[in-house]
Amino acid sequence: MSKLIIGNWKCNPTSLNETKHLFEVIQRGIVKNKNVEVIICPPFIYLAHLIALVKGGLTFGAQDCFWEQKGAFTGEISPLELKNTGCQYVIIGHSERRKYLQETDEMINKKIKAVLKSRLKPILCVGEETRDTFNSEGKPLNEMSLMVGEQIEKDLANVSAARIRDIVIAYEPIWAIGTGNSCSSDDAMKASLFIRKTLTKLYDRPTAEKAKIVYGGSVNSKNVNEYIKGANMDGVLVGGASLNGSEFVKIYEISSRF
Ligand code: PEP
Repeated sequence: MSKLIIGNWKCNPTSLNETKHLFEVIQRGIVKNKNVEVIICPPFIYLAHLIALVKGGLTFGAQDCFWEQKGAFTGEISPLELKNTGCQYVIIGHSERRKYLQETDEMINKKIKAVLKSRLKPILCVGEETRDTFNSEGKPLNEMSLMVGEQIEKDLANVSAARIRDIVIAYEPIWAIGTGNSCSSDDAMKASLFIRKTLTKLYDRPTAEKAKIVYGGSVNSKNVNEYIKGANMDGVLVGGASLNGSEFVKIYEISSRF
């Protein structure tokens, strides 16, 4: 399985010129590599511009989408439009959307199904509110398991086993996002095992093995090896550090070594 390095630019940069500059720095530093897939998720408004500039080695994702493919839904962007623009991935259920836009698991589930229907790959974000602890047997205590377990069950309701291979699950503890308080590699690994256990319960073991699970939350070039190598994650989702082109390239270079 190739590792995924996902850059979530959120609502940045604020002009096309700055966006192109950031993109050029990243594009210069990334070479086509079968062991690592780099996915850039800029704001919708820049997607088509950047897709036109790509020379290879990079793929694109959106940061959200609607659950219908077309029609009278003012202001929404559909999975079909994203597919036709050249996107391959869509981030769904980011904690900032759950928090600021009141996205519910029911809405997220509809979006996941619409994204899969358009042959795009959802990057489903899940994660608990506050830092969790584990007991001496390594079992997660309450919040992580409760929240993440419930999110996965609801967000993937009625998604068939055959589609799990197309889904990326991003474990993003909310307390680690944008705070500099990154999760330990041990805890990230336990969360990833818990996610596979949940998928095994919902589907079966071979299906659970096919999902890609990445870590997100204050990842940078100094700690990325803790997740890629230490926690054996299938990749990382990078927010703040992906807005610094050379730092993001460093994250990619370090990840390509494993
Ligand atoms: C994110 O918001 O998805 C994220 C991982 O942000 P940061 O890397 O800034 O914590």
